[in-house]
Amino acid sequence: MTHIAVVGASLAGLRAAETLRAEGFDGELTIIGAEPHPPYDRPPLSKDFLLGKIETADIALADNAARDALEARWLLGRAATSLRQGEVTVDDGETLTADGIVIATGARARRIPMGGELTGIHVLRTLDDAVSLRRELASAQQVVIVGAGFIGAEVASTAATLGKRVTIVEAAEQPFHRHLGPVAADLLRRTMSDHTVAIRTGRTVTEFGGAQRVSTVVLDDGTRLPTDLVLVGIGAIPNTEWLEGSGVHCDNGVLTDAWGRTNVAGVVAAGDVARFQRGDRQIRVEHWTAASGMAATVARALLAHLTSGAPCAPHVDPPYFWSDQFGHRIQMVGRIRADLPVDIVEGAIDDARFVAVQRRDDAVTAVLGWSMPREFTQWRRRNNDSLRAAAH
Ligand code: FAD
Repeated sequence: MTHIAVVGASLAGLRAAETLRAEGFDGELTIIGAEPHPPYDRPPLSKDFLLGKIETADIALADNAARDALEARWLLGRAATSLRQGEVTVDDGETLTADGIVIATGARARRIPMGGELTGIHVLRTLDDAVSLRRELASAQQVVIVGAGFIGAEVASTAATLGKRVTIVEAAEQPFHRHLGPVAADLLRRTMSDHTVAIRTGRTVTEFGGAQRVSTVVLDDGTRLPTDLVLVGIGAIPNTEWLEGSGVHCDNGVLTDAWGRTNVAGVVAAGDVARFQRGDRQIRVEHWTAASGMAATVARALLAHLTSGAPCAPHVDPPYFWSDQFGHRIQMVGRIRADLPVDIVEGAIDDARFVAVQRRDDAVTAVLGWSMPREFTQWRRRNNDSLRAAAH
């Protein structure tokens, strides 16, 4: 009997397992997850979960019946520590021999290497992080957020909604430009200041002050920001350390082809941990839809390998993300280039409801939506082919 081990029990791991079964895989399936929780959805952690609107049960990615239907052996709260020639070793010493391996170990929050002795300094990647952040946020008055990425901006939005005084510290002079382009970046800055969120750009943190608990954030210009709580949102690091010595090529993620296949036969990777091939580049996309879509592709590619079946189609969806901030839904498909102009094709920026597109040679290469989800989807569907082509 064939045995497939899925390492990582979150979005990509679950979707890969579901696809394996949906495609008729009836062999043994083991799902190994370092967290004690069954698969849950991360996007609400910075939004409704942090706001206290929903609870743990509301963010399950699969209910008990759906998990049982997978007929898998679940090893939760157990981390894989190594991979050697089809053998996965788990942190309690158990070794599993598998014919196929799905690497879906995602990424972890990057931390600042200081302030380790102080309480009140948080990151947000896991449910446990969110529970602890939510508990402390309840009694905090002043919050400093380090990093104006999506997690930082969403937590700023949630904290401001809860009535906290929020300051974001960002090293770049122009936050959000890289992801959103100048038009939406400027609007986001204005929106933040309308919600009394202060942004200190071009500044880095040099020190966290306080006795036991953090009470000050010191910036590189000497400014001291008083605070009750700090959230560090400075990106994520792919979880590849357990693959050392496995022979699987890694470089800021697991390197794969467009099907998610690594250089080792029978080993595939999907989700935030994977750096897959797009045209002549290797890209790592840390977005929900990419993790889910890629996982389905790699599961099919793995089955094709194990059964010597026909190859499936490669993963070609252009990157898509959404973010909910300050009552707005921001959506983007493709990549906006900050150095190229955009056309507003629906709504108006001043109304904070618009769709903008970027074109190259008349073909739409990126679509950005701001609180116009229906129109955004129409533009996305209508330009699916050119968006796909531009992603390569
Ligand atoms: P992960 O979700 O990181 O899961 C990997 C799992 O593998 C983890 O449970 C980890 O513990 C486990 N693991 C790690 N190492 C091992 C090991 N050695 N052995 C066993 N298990 C291991 N995306 C959007 O598009 N829109 C959003 O609005 C959005 N909001 C987000 C908000 C937050 C707070 C966060 C954290 C992410 C958000 N994302 C959003 C990103 C999205 O959630 C990720 O792209 C998605 O979770 C990636 O799924 P994954 O399964 O690849 O990795």
